[in-house]
Amino acid sequence: MTGAQDPSSTEPAGPPAVRARLFVADPLSAGASVGLKPAQAHYLRHVLRLKAGDVIGLFNGRDGEWTGAIAGFGKGWASVDVGVLRRSQGREPDLWLLFAPIKHARIDYLAQKATELGVSRLQPVITDRTAVSRVNTDRLAANAVEAAQQTGRLTVPEVGEPALLGALLETWPADRRLMFCDESGSGPPVADALAAARDAARLPWAILIGPEGGFSTDELDALSKLPFVMPVSLGPRLLRADTAAVAALACWQAALGDWAGATPGS
Ligand code: SAH
Repeated sequence: MTGAQDPSSTEPAGPPAVRARLFVADPLSAGASVGLKPAQAHYLRHVLRLKAGDVIGLFNGRDGEWTGAIAGFGKGWASVDVGVLRRSQGREPDLWLLFAPIKHARIDYLAQKATELGVSRLQPVITDRTAVSRVNTDRLAANAVEAAQQTGRLTVPEVGEPALLGALLETWPADRRLMFCDESGSGPPVADALAAARDAARLPWAILIGPEGGFSTDELDALSKLPFVMPVSLGPRLLRADTAAVAALACWQAALGDWAGATPGS
């Protein structure tokens, strides 16, 4: 910023920034008192070095975002007095991400980036060639909470228990579309497919990303027969699963989601 500039002109839109935004389970309303978890209390007190009286933001996925004044710290706890509503709860895209589990660092990355990109549910799927058998859903949820706090969302994506791809497809909700990222290149380019799907922007959606080993012929065959499936190609290069997820989510948000100015489902 140069000295000649009016600093107020560079302020971002919306309510003034707070030092921290925390996700809590309790109901939020004016005058309520909320107890924080030990890790949250530790973060405020020892990492951010906040004091009683300092104001943070609180959200619970239901009641919007509220200011909260730290009332006091104890050993492993903190209590916060809820103040005023900063932002009301609005509708968010109803977008699931179905992904075959991958190794630690990259599944953490995937959960964080998908949360930043606005998914409503992280759903691990077990496919024929899924190499990773155990999924730490608590860890996925912790990554989702942290990313939601940081990115200014008013919700945290749900985390589903790992499910077999076949079982998910058998019980698939009738009105939910599935954008299937098909590395075989037989699907149309993602931008063309999404442009043609504009009429379905208000429906719930899901995106399916395969494992590092790709989909089996049986799976490709089954997916090609389902009416709610829209295959897409993400270009001529083979992307790793985490890159493919980020790329697909960005394309979807730009074409049908809240980057496009509309909120599906609203
Ligand atoms: N091992 C596979 C590649 C799997 S990449 C092979 O060699 O063929 C993991 C997943 O990322 C794929 O299943 C697919 O869902 C997605 N993906 C990667 N590159 C893609 C592309 N160019 N187009 C569409 N999907 C892609």
